[in-house]
Amino acid sequence: MMTQAPETPQALYRALPSMDSLLAEPSFVVLQQSYGKVAVKAALDSQLKAARSLIGSERRLPTWCGELAQLHGCLVDQLSKDYSHSLIPVWNLTGTILHTNLGRAQQSEAAIRAVTSVMRYPTPLEFELAAGERGHRDNAISALIQRLTGAEACCVVNNNAAAVLLMLSAVAAGKEVIVSRGELVEIGGAFRIPDIMRQAGCTLVEVGSTNRTHLKDYEQAITENTAAIMKVHTSNYHISGFTAAVEEARLGQLCRERGISLISDLGSGSLTDLRRFGLKQEPTPQAMLADGVDLVSFSGDKLLGGPQSGLIVGKQSLIKQLQSHPLKRALRCDKLILAALEATLIHYLNPETLDTELPIMAKFARSQETLWQIGRRLQHALAAHFEPCYRIELVECQTQVGSGSQPDTFLPSVALCFTALDGGSLSLLEQQFKQAARPIIGRMSNDQLRLDLRGLDSEAELLAELSTLGMQL
Ligand SMILES: *Cc1c(COP(=O)(O)O)cnc(C)c1O
Repeated sequence: MMTQAPETPQALYRALPSMDSLLAEPSFVVLQQSYGKVAVKAALDSQLKAARSLIGSERRLPTWCGELAQLHGCLVDQLSKDYSHSLIPVWNLTGTILHTNLGRAQQSEAAIRAVTSVMRYPTPLEFELAAGERGHRDNAISALIQRLTGAEACCVVNNNAAAVLLMLSAVAAGKEVIVSRGELVEIGGAFRIPDIMRQAGCTLVEVGSTNRTHLKDYEQAITENTAAIMKVHTSNYHISGFTAAVEEARLGQLCRERGISLISDLGSGSLTDLRRFGLKQEPTPQAMLADGVDLVSFSGDKLLGGPQSGLIVGKQSLIKQLQSHPLKRALRCDKLILAALEATLIHYLNPETLDTELPIMAKFARSQETLWQIGRRLQHALAAHFEPCYRIELVECQTQVGSGSQPDTFLPSVALCFTALDGGSLSLLEQQFKQAARPIIGRMSNDQLRLDLRGLDSEAELLAELSTLGMQL
């Protein structure tokens, strides 16, 4: 056989080490001990494939061929990436407390403990310990909700969108539902009232106009095919000027007279008075029920401050219908959510503790003066770390509630604000903030990177994180 020149592809392919020889390399054996043979083999396989395609396209060996330490480095990068988690803690300093993209409400310590313990041990999710018989997974929440809102019963599902879908499907499939034109909202993420109606098999009957709907509009639209009137809380936008809407109490009366149901999608649905924070009072589920609404739905992870969930409260007979609907089985919550929700609702039994126990309330409750003090300490401690490339200032800013709640209400706040000087780059800084051990998410505004301090969890930890970053610049 003729000897081939070393640069022929065949010779190059033969020069690649074999999988077995690589797996036997001492440094790679150590990797297998940490990451397992399967993962290391897969990482090596992708490196060898890349090497073969490099030979095919460029007729050369990868540089690691002469130096296995380099291949080891690539493998460590790859494997640590494979094993890294994506749902890690970040700092939400965006100025939006209930940030949907950042997971909405942070949970109370009691909720965290409750979740951890039901993850670790079996729990009587559908079992009545006292009676020793089968129970229902929504019972504990239902009992709490009864105490807190006076509702006859409650049904818990995955989120408020699911709650609306279930209410409509169980109460009005194949029938007509009357909604005011001013309330045909889109919540975001493809949740539009007309679409959800179609999905539930209901016929939407629009009444009134965008800005004005009257009682007689509803009255005239009722036919023998009407199952319900639905009210939608237009939480994420505000129409002002020449407007009219019909109050729930009057609609409740009309519905009772005509033998149809009144249902309400409240959206946020706070159970506490938010005016103490300088926010607007949201319509509460208890007020809706008192006004004669038959079913009210709201989110668990908006202003309630709990886990992602949807609660439907109201008449026992209707809740029974929801509980036995096949969709409920598909939309029911698991034990982790129910444990967190139960712990969250228990805080509401003692409303004076809400502002300390529920992280979202603690954030709403902070005074601007406290935020100035925190800001001054951070600015003072950090300035030297970021000089001379960046200047740190404190500016007044405004925090939003988020999740479509109260879009025109703002809480006065303070932002730690970075400006790039000679040798600094704001986009680079933003990138570095996002790559921190606990990524820092702020907001770019007018050539400044702003960190709204109302969203801060721990001053000491943020200081440590920013000091480390500053020293690496
Ligand atoms: C937020 C909202 C929804 C959707 O609730 P999710 O819990 O996000 O599914 C539906 N209706 C209204 C009025 C809302 O504000």
